[in-house]
Amino acid sequence: MSKINIAIDGFSSTGKSTVARRLAKELGYLYVDTGAMYRAVALYALRNGLVNEEGQLDAAGLVAVLDRIELAFVKSASNPAQFEIALNGEPVEGYIRNLEVSSVVSPVAVIKEVRDLLVQQQQQMGKEGGIVMDGRDIGTVVFPDAQLKIFMTASAEKRTHRRLEELLARGEEVSYEEVYTNIVERDRIDSTREIGPLRKAEDAIEYNNDNLSLEEQYQLIYQEALRLTKVGV
Ligand code: C5P
Repeated sequence: MSKINIAIDGFSSTGKSTVARRLAKELGYLYVDTGAMYRAVALYALRNGLVNEEGQLDAAGLVAVLDRIELAFVKSASNPAQFEIALNGEPVEGYIRNLEVSSVVSPVAVIKEVRDLLVQQQQQMGKEGGIVMDGRDIGTVVFPDAQLKIFMTASAEKRTHRRLEELLARGEEVSYEEVYTNIVERDRIDSTREIGPLRKAEDAIEYNNDNLSLEEQYQLIYQEALRLTKVGV
């Protein structure tokens, strides 16, 4: 069977990473969560005084220190079968999913220099094939030649419920309104930015999981991935 690359793009909290992680495990591929990379850069900005009290990002300041940021995926201490993002050697998965990081990540992801750096690292990871990567621009910019491209959508309300459940389960004190506002604002920034905006690649298969369960969706994607690896596209 040939090793293909699978690109999974879409709006936040549509279940992309759940599908991507399971698919990678089933196929014996590497899973790369590109959102975690942008989130780790946002965490660096927060930790290094590059976001002011009003939540404004110092974009020029971040660009000036980009060469001090090293990202890598390392084996997770709590689950060695999984990889997690490390920022300058420190595993930071536990610090990047909160609302504080979620509020600066989209302004960080608008910056050309940040995108150039991260896209180049992502392309390097997938150059041998056998990767499942999720994000916003994987099928359009990172791997325009990916053999399987998926685009996932769902209503902002459904996505807010999903995200809220995850955050509450982690012990964060957040309201429905705060999460909803963040999701809608990220959609807006991600879809309207100039470089690598969130949009469906022409040859991507679109799933709207308002009317499809995650399980049904997973099965459809898995069957398609199997078919492609067997025909050796
Ligand atoms: O996937 P996740 O919701 O964790 O991504 C966080 C943010 O990172 C997105 O809202 C977007 O601003 C940015 N991102 C991006 N390009 C990607 C992945 C994520 O711009 N490929």
